[in-house]
Amino acid sequence: MQQPVYPDRAALDEALHRLAQLPPLVTSWEILALRQLLGEAAEGRRFLLQGGDCAETFDDCTSPLISNRLKVMLQMSLVLVHGLQLPVVRVGRFAGQYAKPRSADTETRDGVTLPSYRGDLVNGPAFDAKTRVPDPLRLVRGHAHSAMTMNFVRALIDGGFADLHHPEYWDLAWVEHSPLQQDYRRMVESIGDSLRFMETLAGRPVSDFQRVDFFTSHEALLLHYEEALTRQVPRQWGWFNLSTHYPWIGMRTAAIDGAHTEYFRGIRNPIAVKVGPSVTPDQLLRLIDVLDPANEPGRLTLIHRMGVAKIEAVLPPLLSAVRSAGRKVLWCCDPMHGNTESLDNGYKTRRFENIRGELDRAFDIHAAVGTRLGGVHLELTGENVTECLGGARSLAEADLARAYKSTVDPRLNYEQALEMAMLIVRKRGA
Ligand code: PEP
Ligand code: MN
Repeated sequence: MQQPVYPDRAALDEALHRLAQLPPLVTSWEILALRQLLGEAAEGRRFLLQGGDCAETFDDCTSPLISNRLKVMLQMSLVLVHGLQLPVVRVGRFAGQYAKPRSADTETRDGVTLPSYRGDLVNGPAFDAKTRVPDPLRLVRGHAHSAMTMNFVRALIDGGFADLHHPEYWDLAWVEHSPLQQDYRRMVESIGDSLRFMETLAGRPVSDFQRVDFFTSHEALLLHYEEALTRQVPRQWGWFNLSTHYPWIGMRTAAIDGAHTEYFRGIRNPIAVKVGPSVTPDQLLRLIDVLDPANEPGRLTLIHRMGVAKIEAVLPPLLSAVRSAGRKVLWCCDPMHGNTESLDNGYKTRRFENIRGELDRAFDIHAAVGTRLGGVHLELTGENVTECLGGARSLAEADLARAYKSTVDPRLNYEQALEMAMLIVRKRGA
């Protein structure tokens, strides 16, 4: 499901052949290291922070956009580590988040019907016939843009950008006057004090604080692309998707007898599945049987995305069923995708109160059932966008027009994202 129809089969074959020759974006040992960390998160010894754009675009593959997104994630993870007293597993929705599921195959404007925009990996967003034709060369360009993104992120991290001694590297110019900044500053100062204390004790700088691990993830939607980057590697058994560390199956393609489930069954990466409100406990248990037959912690993450209105009714039976079956999954909450709404002025938005409300309830529901919420999945950006309503600056409907930049779903801006991290700490850190 959700696959584009390429008019030129020979051009597709040629692009896939090329893709299959190109070097991978990640390695099997990074993948297995992440799988280990996620296993520890499933056991309550780490917390997963997964975030980034709904859809990356080739045009947005720029230095400031990539580094600002990294800054927000680093700041959020600092808040989480400090407040939860747990190490955080940082996973970006980037370096491959270029394919989008759509509710309809076509879009009609003023009597003209064209194929829907399915993400930059498939076609372009502009509403003209030429741009909307699925172009196989975009598969190769998608790989190149993912590689450029990864290269920059890796260079920043390895070069000391994530050094805990220099949290000022992560400051974003536009947020100096944010009300949240004071809380954040106080926390950073107290961490700085602890760091100096420890290094005085040790009598040397502690090099472990100079870098962090950062992993990538995306919705593995376009099977042509994923398969071309699925490889066997020396001295390892089985198959790895080497386009990303941690692919997930979207809600629309998670059918037990679907092609995506069949593909995911055969790779050794840690994998995730989005679980929406229509899934029954029985269906979920069968899906877990297929995707994680050996019941290995770290293999399977279930990302529930129910919406604030439904979570209290639909989540508890799923959690109970998985718990009673003794299944060792990592539970993660996506409070974004069940809370999307379209306004009369045409904007697709989400209310901060609903996002926060779903996450807040998720923690309480897990505690009541006796399971553990081990992670959060957010759509966010380091830019000063106005896409979600509410938050620290109480964005209103009239503000949306000012800086609505997403081509698909509305993202949290920096302040809203940091506020979400502080909420998690209040809920779980206590
Ligand atoms: C997404 O993560 O952008 C998405 C489409 O989510 P879901 O599959 O949960 O609707
Ligand atoms: Mn989305």
